[in-house]
Amino acid sequence: MVEVTVDAVEEVGTRTVALELRTPEGFDAEPGQFLLVRATVDGGGEQRSAGNRSETGDVEETGYYTLSSPDAEGTMEITVEYVPEGTLAPWLAERTPGDEIEIEGPFGDVRYTGDGPVVVLAEGPGIGPAVGIAERARGAGHDATVIFWGEDPPHRDRLDALDAGGATVLVVGSLDEAVDILTDAAAATVYVFGFESFVRDAKTVAEAAGVDDVRAENFGPR
Ligand SMILES: Cc1cc2nc3c(=O)[nH]c(=O)nc-3n(C[C@H](O)[C@H](O)[C@H](O)COP(=O)(O)OP(=O)(O)OC[C@H]3O[C@@H](n4cnc5c(N)ncnc54)[C@H](O)[C@@H]3O)c2cc1C
Repeated sequence: MVEVTVDAVEEVGTRTVALELRTPEGFDAEPGQFLLVRATVDGGGEQRSAGNRSETGDVEETGYYTLSSPDAEGTMEITVEYVPEGTLAPWLAERTPGDEIEIEGPFGDVRYTGDGPVVVLAEGPGIGPAVGIAERARGAGHDATVIFWGEDPPHRDRLDALDAGGATVLVVGSLDEAVDILTDAAAATVYVFGFESFVRDAKTVAEAAGVDDVRAENFGPR
């Protein structure tokens, strides 16, 4: 476990915040990898069952959050979507600059190090690693395509900047709209980030389009 300082907290979409964290000495991580965050949060009442409750009602919570910056040089970023009935995610959304949070990691074999063109399929907070990877790819001179399933993606400013800088950004209501891009992207590495059912559907669509190596990180059930 290492304590990191929160440098900035920014609202980047509906119930979604980006936390910029000061990267500790000797720590490195790539977009796509995730951090374990541990915190003692207000348990909010006896109906909750997760975590280890203390006599004060505080609960020790852990959660995983994926890097959404193109690298971890100096600072790194995570993107957190929260629901009001959640525990750790709303607590993270309430952090302010100067707060310290405990992290561990990085974890995960799904990562991008700037070594070729990418297509990233994302939903919800999965748009975080999608923009981080696309920015890293464009910075290294590679093609990048981000396909967001849903409406009104978080990180709109960064998606617009990617689009203006030569990346392809698509917001789709059906993953069928991704088939042609996946079919034509033989040279690209295909990444998928999101919750369980999205990852399953995205893998099915990618495989049907002839992509046999999909690098997917599953955020668990919604
Ligand atoms: C490898 C990995 C990487 C992950 N990366 C990210 C990431 O980059 N960003 C991110 O936001 N999350 C990410 N997650 C999910 C994250 O770790 C937590 O599961 C999530 O933030 C739960 O928040 P909570 O503790 O506040 O909610 P909980 O207290 O665990 O949940 C309370 C209730 O709310 C529901 N719920 C919680 N969050 C949501 C949601 N977003 N939408 C709908 N229902 C919800 C739960 O199903 C439950 O019923 C990742 C998970 C994994 C396994």
